[in-house]
Amino acid sequence: MIVCDVDNTLADLNTVLRVRFPGGADRENRPDWAPVPTAFWATPEGLDLLEAAAPFSGAAETLAQLVGRGGVRYVTARPLCAGPLTRIWLARYGFPDGEVLTECGGARRADLAAAFGTRLAIDDDLRAAWEYRILGIPCLLRRQPYNSADICAFSDWRDLRGVLDAAGCGDLVAGAVPGRRRLDRASARA
Ligand SMILES: [Mg+2]
Repeated sequence: MIVCDVDNTLADLNTVLRVRFPGGADRENRPDWAPVPTAFWATPEGLDLLEAAAPFSGAAETLAQLVGRGGVRYVTARPLCAGPLTRIWLARYGFPDGEVLTECGGARRADLAAAFGTRLAIDDDLRAAWEYRILGIPCLLRRQPYNSADICAFSDWRDLRGVLDAAGCGDLVAGAVPGRRRLDRASARA
């Protein structure tokens, strides 16, 4: 099982937002585009922007290779009402089939991922990455200005070899990585 974020990981939402909300270069250094109110994403205009975002090159093909027979779940902070369009968007661009979990922020997505027996997480939010890692789940980051210092940040979906090695998942493409379980804190201290 792989869990994968959608916005700015698979979908280039920031490019759309730069047009809709011009200026404010500081926003490029934040994962949450803070001036955009959360409620905006549930408005007709917000949903249209989510639908308009283009996928990053190579994302669908590479994710399909990584997923193999283990399956994928898509985790996103998008509102519940964005679920149907997100499923349609993923299918339109050829992403592998998988459940879409909306209203799923960083800490919650990591807890769910641990419960799913997730082998690898892919995101763009450094805070989410560390929530995963604390639970023993490796996490790659689609490179953005706010995560570029991370050793597991990648700029090209078509070349993940280096970051998979850095995350200790170099054999994942071959489908040979062992399953991971939630870290047992008591045994970790022993
Ligand atoms: Mg994201």
